[in-house]
Amino acid sequence: MCWCHRCNQNKKVNGIPFSMTRMILCPDCGSKRCPKATDHRLACTDSNEPGQQGSIYGTLNPDYYEDDPWNSWRPSRDIV
Ligand SMILES: [Zn+2]
Ligand SMILES: [Zn+2]
Repeated sequence: MCWCHRCNQNKKVNGIPFSMTRMILCPDCGSKRCPKATDHRLACTDSNEPGQQGSIYGTLNPDYYEDDPWNSWRPSRDIV
């Protein structure tokens, strides 16, 4: 089973989104804001900087809270 947000976006544990049951971190650098934590196909940036391209935390509408990524999850056009 994959760790990333993309592969688990529809997965629920006891009715709760998978990502709410645990913190999803990049397996390489351990950063939640690394793009690889959002999609395993993206390269690890070894960075926890906010606003990274491809990261679920980098494309947030400012109205949403960072710790509530599922409120703002919108699949990218290049991800089918
Ligand atoms: Zn994945
Ligand atoms: Zn990483």
